[in-house]
Amino acid sequence: MRAIVIGAGVIGVAVAAGLARRGARVTVLDAGRPGAGTSGTTFAWVNAANKEPESYFALNVAGMRAHRDLAGDHAPWYFPTGNLERATTDEHRAALAAKLDRLGASGYPARRLTAAQARELEPDLAHTDGADHAFFPGEAYVLPVPLLARLLAEARDRGATVRTRTEVTEVDGGKVRTAAGTRYDADVVVSCAGRWTTRVAAMAGADVPMIDPDLAGSPAVAFLATTAPVPVRLSRVLHTSRLHVRPDGGGRLMLHALDLDGLADPAAPAPGVAAEFVRRLPEVLAGADDVPVEAVRIGQRAIPGDGRTVAGFTDPGFYVVATHSGITLAPLLGELVAGEVFGTPSAMLTDFRPDRFTP
Ligand SMILES: Cc1cc2nc3c(=O)[nH]c(=O)nc-3n(C[C@H](O)[C@H](O)[C@H](O)COP(=O)(O)OP(=O)(O)OC[C@H]3O[C@@H](n4cnc5c(N)ncnc54)[C@H](O)[C@@H]3O)c2cc1C
Repeated sequence: MRAIVIGAGVIGVAVAAGLARRGARVTVLDAGRPGAGTSGTTFAWVNAANKEPESYFALNVAGMRAHRDLAGDHAPWYFPTGNLERATTDEHRAALAAKLDRLGASGYPARRLTAAQARELEPDLAHTDGADHAFFPGEAYVLPVPLLARLLAEARDRGATVRTRTEVTEVDGGKVRTAAGTRYDADVVVSCAGRWTTRVAAMAGADVPMIDPDLAGSPAVAFLATTAPVPVRLSRVLHTSRLHVRPDGGGRLMLHALDLDGLADPAAPAPGVAAEFVRRLPEVLAGADDVPVEAVRIGQRAIPGDGRTVAGFTDPGFYVVATHSGITLAPLLGELVAGEVFGTPSAMLTDFRPDRFTP
């Protein structure tokens, strides 16, 4: 089988690896370069904690398992150190209690901790009175670019060709044409175009709405800050009421704050946001005063119109996959999508077919 994969983000390279594993002759076409889309600017927390409905929760739990299988005993991109959550506002405390009840009932590893137990896990966690703590030991974080490199290398080792700076502008059955006028023929085209999915699906006559990733204040837009290397101990994802933090390699930390996302505008800089991250960090980690923020980037999520994954054929030669939580789901979707392209439908994907958007 000859397959064209449009997009070399984490989803595209996972699908390319899955197809190549099954013996397909794969060509990956990307308008830019691998990882330059959303996959290069992501918090990359592997979890199923806030995923609803049930079928989406189950998909993400399976996604967590697929990461463990891919990483084996040790992998330089995968950190299965769990997630520590600390709630200091009434609203967050109530949400955390509800989450513990809900996840506990479904058997998802989750437990309440005392402040002392939380500091055993993270000794540099700053002291705060009246906080609630919980730990989710099955969760993880990844370094997305090394993950992408692992999957891309597997695809290449199995014979895949990767063309960068190759924008697809026409799709016709199993054929595509690029902006430069080159034609590629295959038996199947798989769109893994992330936040550009609406445009690519439309080329194949399919309607896949995505939440506008370019609109200031849209739920698809967020700030992610990266600090300079900082001499504090942090081994895992840490969610607090005002700041989310994870290690980002080389002593750097990645920071995210939900309440600041509303200020993010892909078309305009946001003065003052870096300073706000610098102010918040010592509230969470002792010894992290005045840590320089090296970069504040705008992340643009790939969120299908109803928030849930899209995966399926829209005609016999065209398969589309697009999802938020793509870091959690990539190794799993790579396998499931490749299986479907080779004729084995996955029951896990039944609830996520693109025809739900067809009037
Ligand atoms: C702020 C933020 C935080 C996040 N946090 C998490 C998290 O904690 N956990 C989690 O699991 N997920 C998280 N995500 C989501 C996750 O990062 C994304 O779901 C995932 O990276 C999407 O990968 P993708 O391969 O679908 O898209 P992308 O990485 O954007 O790749 C799509 C590729 O398609 C290419 N392309 C588009 N159109 C064309 C065309 N016409 N021709 C050729 N190529 C084309 C683009 O150049 C691009 O390289 C987060 C995202 C953001 C923004």
